[in-house]
Amino acid sequence: MDLIPAISQIPAPSAQRIALRISAPGERALKQGHPWVFDQSINEQSHQGAPGDLAVIFDDKRRFLAIGLYDPTSTIRVRILQKIKPATIDANWFQEKIKTADAIRAPLKKQETNGYRLIHGENDGLPGLVIDRYAETLVLKLYTPAWVPHLKDIISALEQPQSFNQLILRLNRTLNKQTDYLHGLTDGMTLTPQTPESLILFKENGITFECDPINGQKTGFFLDQRENRERVRSLSKGKSVLNVFSYTGGFSLYAADGGAKEVVSVDFSTPATQATLRNIEHNQHRPNIRNAKFETLDQDAFDALMQMKDAGRQFDIVILDPPMFAQNQSQVETALTAYRRLTHLGLDVLKRGGILVQASCSSRVSTVEFFDAIHRSARESGRPLQEIERTGHALDHPITYKEGAYLKCLFATAP
Ligand code: SAH
Repeated sequence: MDLIPAISQIPAPSAQRIALRISAPGERALKQGHPWVFDQSINEQSHQGAPGDLAVIFDDKRRFLAIGLYDPTSTIRVRILQKIKPATIDANWFQEKIKTADAIRAPLKKQETNGYRLIHGENDGLPGLVIDRYAETLVLKLYTPAWVPHLKDIISALEQPQSFNQLILRLNRTLNKQTDYLHGLTDGMTLTPQTPESLILFKENGITFECDPINGQKTGFFLDQRENRERVRSLSKGKSVLNVFSYTGGFSLYAADGGAKEVVSVDFSTPATQATLRNIEHNQHRPNIRNAKFETLDQDAFDALMQMKDAGRQFDIVILDPPMFAQNQSQVETALTAYRRLTHLGLDVLKRGGILVQASCSSRVSTVEFFDAIHRSARESGRPLQEIERTGHALDHPITYKEGAYLKCLFATAP
């Protein structure tokens, strides 16, 4: 596949591997499956390296423990690629990881779904790297400069098992500022030479969505909620549904497709609510969506909920899927307060016997803390919840280590 010249100008990673010895707690974490080595657990290092150099980790008896990507710019100093057995890290090695990840996603292709996460970072053995597919477009997102020298190999590994006609690069916020290591790469750059398609249409469980991988949130869509959206579809027949923090209308379209008679979407981002309206248009060939009554509000979620309460509006299903509330440990309490407040406001506009769907994508907030917060708030509102289901990630967001589990969602009825 042709790529833009910038890719061939990226210098190759150093041929000299860095040797590291780590502390006993660092070794324990590694053996328990943790995919990172932090700077403070490094006791000895052969030489200073650059982002993307390969680091080999030894125990105190100089036995091989693991090999990973070195990043001197981060406290996550090494991201582990392989443990137990030494390996040559090259395009072939990357290709094996991609093939394994692809096989896990095979069931999705049978479900009229061509928008999914192909590589979920650490959880697919490629830490700090995400690859999402939207039809024939792949979006490759990097979270560390350590991937830059390996980009050429990753792309050539992708080409074999994957077909795609467009490849878009996204950089996380920190990496986007590390221009010294980017060799001219920029966030949102199209790595394939043709003019990028501005909006991409893809299907999820038969429903058509557009996404804008360059300017959109995440890589353009919240793929991790697919299975929860499907659950909402199965619960929505004849119902009135309020979708709060609706982004481009994912849950709204599923609710309508499942036969909801009325769907209200709330998000304070105007580009998101405009995309919601276009997504409704993209699905006019689906009778339930054509017949549903939609209302889309670009408004702050908390304000909208309070106004609806004052206006006496009530729904059969209320969905609350806010953005991440806790970026770090110190924000957990504030996040829990916000979740409780949302439960309270959501119940104010939920009919008796209605269904509350509330999600959290804050990995810092534990599952127990989150579900306890919802239940506590519901009891305080005089409407103790009866759980239908607790759910987590869709299958293309596997979890292989504790901190990898970030998404939690409660489906419950309220008296
Ligand atoms: N449920 C969506 C994803 C939601 S992501 C889906 O299935 O695709 C969180 C959304 O909340 C974002 O679209 C963001 O624009 C919106 N948002 C964040 N804070 C908000 C607020 N205070 N009021 C309204 N919307 C908000």
